[in-house]
Amino acid sequence: MKEQLVLHICCAPDQAWGIHELGEQYDITCFFCNPNISPLDEYTLRLDEAYKVAKHYGLRLVADDYNPLSWEKTVEPYLSTPEGGERCRACFLLRLGRTSQFCKDVSINKFATVMSVSPHKNIKMLNETGHQSAHDQSVQYIETNLKKNDGFKKSTLLSAELGLYRQDYCGCRLSKAESEIRKLNRKKVISDLK
Ligand code: SF4
Repeated sequence: MKEQLVLHICCAPDQAWGIHELGEQYDITCFFCNPNISPLDEYTLRLDEAYKVAKHYGLRLVADDYNPLSWEKTVEPYLSTPEGGERCRACFLLRLGRTSQFCKDVSINKFATVMSVSPHKNIKMLNETGHQSAHDQSVQYIETNLKKNDGFKKSTLLSAELGLYRQDYCGCRLSKAESEIRKLNRKKVISDLK
C-alpha cells in the first residue's frame, strides 16, 4: 500500500508534473491553497484547471477557503521587496502553514509542494519554509526538486498535452505588475533593435 501524501498545488501545470513524479510512490490528496492569487477571475481559472487535473488522474482535490486578505496582511511588511525575496518567504510560509494544518485535519502526516517545479522559485527558501511549517504542526515536509532533470521543460510539454492553461505570472498582484513591466521592457528592446 502506498503512503499518503498531501500535495500542495499552486497551479495545474505544476500539479500535473508533481503527480507524474510522485504518484507512483504516494497516494496523493491535492490541496489547493493560494490566497496570493489575484484577481479573483485568475484564482477561479487556476482552481478549475486544478480540478481538471485531479479528475484526469483520479485524485481527490480539496480547495482551501480563498482568503486574499490573509495574504495582504502576511506580506504587508515586505511589499517593497522583489519577487524571490522576503515577500515570497512570507507567502510560502502562509500557504505551506495552511497545508500543514490541513494535514493535521485529515490525519495525513506528510506533505510536499509542487512549487518546486518553477525555475523562478528559490528552492532553499521553499524547503526552509516547508520544514518550518511542518515543525509547527508536528508533521513531515517532503523535499522535492521537481525542476531537476529538465523537469520544468517536461512539465510544459505535459501541460500542453493535457491542454492546460499556463499563467504568465506567479500569482500575486505584485508579480502580475512585475510581469507586465518585463513584457513592456522586452517590447522596447525589440523596437530599439529595429
Ligand atoms: S511572487 Fe509568487 S511566491 Fe512571491 S509573493 Fe507573489 S505569489 Fe507569492
